Amino acid sequence: MKNLDVVVVGGGPVGLWTACELRLGGLDVTVLERRTERVAQSRALTLHGRTIELFAMRGIAERFLAEGRPISNGHYAGLETRLDFSCFDTRFPFTLFLPQSRTEALIEDHARELGVDILRGHHVEYITGNTSDGYDLVARHAQGNSTFHARAVVGADARHSVVRQTAGISFDGHDATVSIMMGDVRIDGLEGPPVRMVTNEHGGVAIVPVAADGTVRVIMADPERMHVPVAQPLSLDELTTSTQRILGAGIRLSEPSWLTRFGDETRLAARYREGNLFIAGDAAHLHLPAGGQGMNVGLQDAMNLGWKLAAVLKSEAPDALLDSYEIERRPIGAQLARNTEAQGALMTRFDPAHLALRAEMSELLKMPEVNRRLAGVLSGFDLRYPAGGLFGNRMGSGERVPDHPVTLADGTSTTIHSLLADGRWLHLSSGNGTRITLPDWLSADSVRFVEASSGVPGADAPTALLARPDGYSAGHMTHAA
Ligand SMILES: Cc1cc2nc3c(=O)[nH]c(=O)nc-3n(C[C@H](O)[C@H](O)[C@H](O)COP(=O)(O)OP(=O)(O)OC[C@H]3O[C@@H](n4cnc5c(N)ncnc54)[C@H](O)[C@@H]3O)c2cc1C
Repeated sequence: MKNLDVVVVGGGPVGLWTACELRLGGLDVTVLERRTERVAQSRALTLHGRTIELFAMRGIAERFLAEGRPISNGHYAGLETRLDFSCFDTRFPFTLFLPQSRTEALIEDHARELGVDILRGHHVEYITGNTSDGYDLVARHAQGNSTFHARAVVGADARHSVVRQTAGISFDGHDATVSIMMGDVRIDGLEGPPVRMVTNEHGGVAIVPVAADGTVRVIMADPERMHVPVAQPLSLDELTTSTQRILGAGIRLSEPSWLTRFGDETRLAARYREGNLFIAGDAAHLHLPAGGQGMNVGLQDAMNLGWKLAAVLKSEAPDALLDSYEIERRPIGAQLARNTEAQGALMTRFDPAHLALRAEMSELLKMPEVNRRLAGVLSGFDLRYPAGGLFGNRMGSGERVPDHPVTLADGTSTTIHSLLADGRWLHLSSGNGTRITLPDWLSADSVRFVEASSGVPGADAPTALLARPDGYSAGHMTHAA
């Protein structure tokens, strides 16, 4: 039997990123993935700017930027008015189109560089144990069964999560009520911008680029086909017929690399933790893929959980830190369910009342405040965790820390996110001896202390800043404070 600190069940993007963060935190971690090969289908195409910031905080954002295609705006419910991310203080005010298979491959490269053990072809069938004794996991593979022992288990094993079921966590919500067609295809007879969304009384269609070879994704909500079960295979003819009804008879679709349907099944786990069993990503939240959020939110779950679990298992933080994972992340899952349900209502009904509602919403979205609210939620840029608890009530606590440039005392130029690359806390001060009192449970050994000669950047002109390893503030001080 292999003894580990943590087993991550599921080697999709969320499991792999969780493992990276745990390894960066110094733990011995193994990923068990039932598939022998990575899923080749494009699936999640959209990486939001906040997720790219997470990669920047670990020094690997350039790898994604080098392969992806930046799209200067985003969408909410496919409304005609596009979401504008330029209002956020970020280096990445865009969405990056990159097939999920490539995102996973790049995360896996990072995981292997860090020393994460990834075992493919290992299907976890049983988990037994408890917090004090640890957990035994039995995985079936081509040669038989193997047992792994771990102090904690993270379930990034999506819809039918064995970890969630072992933990007895309910996954309430509803089954799919509509089915939407989707194909990665070549398209002829359509000129114009790379991203196209059209909605009329015949239905709604979105066309977005998938690959440099001209492959596009056609997403089609056809009221005449929305009753078809999600599991029923989709043919190119069926997708073509529906697309022509909306975009015109001159449209030709060919060379399908993936044809599928998806629905609006929506579920949220009642809890994210039971003892030292945790769930993240699709294991914790399922919803209509609208606005490009599921994987992004899952990666942000992973970023929140990783450093906390590492700190607690290394006895560097109290167990209560792990409760803050659910306190901080489950409301995001609830919000995700809410906004995708709302988008679903706008995207799958084509009667005059709903078309009028879309038109009104599209007008409202021209208002900067409305844009900021919706773009902030979908991208994660405006996410703010509640202050208090183990992190204290200091000014700015729970806010996202933007990636401002910093000149260090020795003259080196860097940025705040680069200073977080080792996965530790960051205490940045302006060199006048200002020191933020650390939370009483946090050892100075877990903190990187840095002095900036140029002052600490930030809207309130802070004199010192304390940032958590996941890039959220644990408070700042200003001259006035
Ligand atoms: C058409 C479509 C478009 C989408 N577009 C976007 C988008 O643009 N942006 C976005 O953010 N999201 C998007 N999503 C959602 C995104 O694909 C998912 O949210 C994402 O895959 C979740 O990642 P995960 O790691 O939690 O789960 P998964 O990617 O499903 O990975 C779970 C892994 O666990 C493994 N596993 C399961 N059970 C076991 C077991 N017992 N033992 C071992 N291994 C196990 C599985 O084999 C799988 O590899 C889209 C989804 C669809 C269907």
